[in-house]
Amino acid sequence: MTTRLPKLVAFDLDYTLWDLWIDTHVTGPLHRDKNAINEVLDKHNTPISFYKHVPQILHRLRTAEVTIAAASRTSAPTKARSALTLLLVPPMEGSKEGAVKAIDFFNQLEIYPGSKLTHFKKLHQKTEIPYSEMLFFDDEHRNKEVEQLGVTFCLVRNGLDDRTFEQGLAEWRKRHPVEIIEDAAGSTS
Ligand SMILES: [Mg+2]
Repeated sequence: MTTRLPKLVAFDLDYTLWDLWIDTHVTGPLHRDKNAINEVLDKHNTPISFYKHVPQILHRLRTAEVTIAAASRTSAPTKARSALTLLLVPPMEGSKEGAVKAIDFFNQLEIYPGSKLTHFKKLHQKTEIPYSEMLFFDDEHRNKEVEQLGVTFCLVRNGLDDRTFEQGLAEWRKRHPVEIIEDAAGSTS
C-alpha cells in the first residue's frame, strides 16, 4: 500500500516552499500584479513564488483530506501570512477550476519565532492528531529536534520537490508500518 499518507503534513516556509527569507529578503507591503499565478511582489517588485512542484503537492494532500500546516519560525509572521494570502496557486493538473489562494490550503498556521517544538505542541493541541501521524518538511537541520515528540522530519535541500516529498512519505511509512490485525485463530490477515 504505497499511497498511505500521514494525517498531517507540515511545511516550513523559507527555503522549503519559497526561495527566500521572508523577514530579510522582501520588504512590505506585498502586492500581486492582477491575477498573476504563483507570484507575489514586494515593495521593490522582488517576486515571491512557491517552488515549481509545490502547487501539485498541496493539491494532492488536500484531495486526500490530509491536514496541511505551515510551521515557520520567521520573525516576520505578518509578511508571511500576507504572502500566503496573496499568492495564487494554479489549479490541479487537468482541472478547469480557477486558481486558489495559497492560504486556503493550510488548515493550520503556526508562524512565530522560537523552537519548532512549540509549533508542533500547538498543532497537536489544536488538531488532536498524534505526533506519529505528522510528517514535517524543513530545510534547517536544527528543526529536526521535533523528532523528540515523535514527528517524522524530512530535510529539504534546494526547495521542496516531488522527489523529496516522496522520500519523506517513504520514511514516514517505514517508521509507521500498517498494523497487522490478528484474527481469533491467531493467523494474520
Ligand atoms: Mg526554512
